[in-house]
Amino acid sequence: MTLPAKETGQVATPPPIAMLAELTHRCPLACPYCSNPLELARANEELSTSEWIETFRQAAALGVLHLHLSGGEPASRRDLIDLTKAAVSLGLYTNLITSGLGLTEARVGKLSAAGLDHVQLSIQGTRAPSADHVSGCDGGHARKLSVAGWLRDAGIPLTLNAVCHRRNMGEIEDIISLAVELGARRVEIATVQFHGWAMLNQKALMPTMDQVAKATSIVATMRARLEGVLVIDYVPADYYATYPKACMGGWGRAGFNVTPSGRVLPCHAAETIKHLAFDNVRARPLGEIWYNGGAFNAFRGDGWMPEPCRSCKRKDIDFGGCRCQAMALAGDASATDPVCRKSPRRKDVDRRIIDDTEVRDIEVSDIETPLPPFRYRGNGTLRS
Ligand code: SF4
Ligand code: SF4
Repeated sequence: MTLPAKETGQVATPPPIAMLAELTHRCPLACPYCSNPLELARANEELSTSEWIETFRQAAALGVLHLHLSGGEPASRRDLIDLTKAAVSLGLYTNLITSGLGLTEARVGKLSAAGLDHVQLSIQGTRAPSADHVSGCDGGHARKLSVAGWLRDAGIPLTLNAVCHRRNMGEIEDIISLAVELGARRVEIATVQFHGWAMLNQKALMPTMDQVAKATSIVATMRARLEGVLVIDYVPADYYATYPKACMGGWGRAGFNVTPSGRVLPCHAAETIKHLAFDNVRARPLGEIWYNGGAFNAFRGDGWMPEPCRSCKRKDIDFGGCRCQAMALAGDASATDPVCRKSPRRKDVDRRIIDDTEVRDIEVSDIETPLPPFRYRGNGTLRS
């Protein structure tokens, strides 16, 4: 049964449409922009198979339609097939977000038999040496190409995902061509978002204004050329935008994340806002967390908004931007997103980040550049 929208404070909260299940933080790769938190959940803290299935059941009852099985690397979970079967039996549309590492041809066949609806396969670029350098995994790129072939043979619809940054922005046209070659229906090219590990690696990852302009132009050209063949989703660079994005479709409005150990978050980076307390599915029903949880209600409506957001015409479009970005750049999660041109902090973004990016060497055609090395997740050491 789907619960109706509820009145929480001054706004009616609609039921969520999507849940992102971070099944584990474990992953054989070590991307320098990984969305995993800096402190990873241990395997023995992860929700059990039955706890995940109960969470899926509660999510379906709450009105969730789309279940994203993610991580870390979700294929690191031995029970991935059982979890997929359970989610399908609950009527959830299942989307596996994977690096491909940990999938075999046999496992892809079992996922297909379990009813998996869709896969988003991530790549780090189109050239094996640099892609493997970014992921910290020799042979990783070749393995991903094999996985794409198995998915195609199994008839599972595919989206190719690529995070773009200073070192691979020049490959966008090739990434789009590779998506066509692999039989993907969509390609999602998302410019790196600076939270967590990506923030630690900001100097090495920040694209230049010139790169961003070229990328936008290439995407427009390729969209026209590939109309009816491939859908190209493009997430441009936040820091070069005029206004912020409606992060997560608005805080606590469309969906939520569940961490490997069961904490329920309004978005994957929400734990960077230290004063918020997050409920756990082990202790509280999901419906109560969604409608009444303190973290979810912290930034719903406009009661929390400062000026200029509160009287801005765009407040129902971008909801004041990203709370985690406000936390990271302004040290205040309630501030107007500092990338907004109306924010009094916008000049700091321009001076401290963009100007600094532009003056450094922008020769990024290969990885042997004088750019700062990556800091990789896991051991925090420099590996390049
Ligand atoms: S971003 Fe890279 S390291 Fe992080 S979970 Fe995804 S594939 Fe693994
Ligand atoms: S002032 Fe606030 S609501 Fe208006 S565009 Fe900027 S971030 Fe969005």
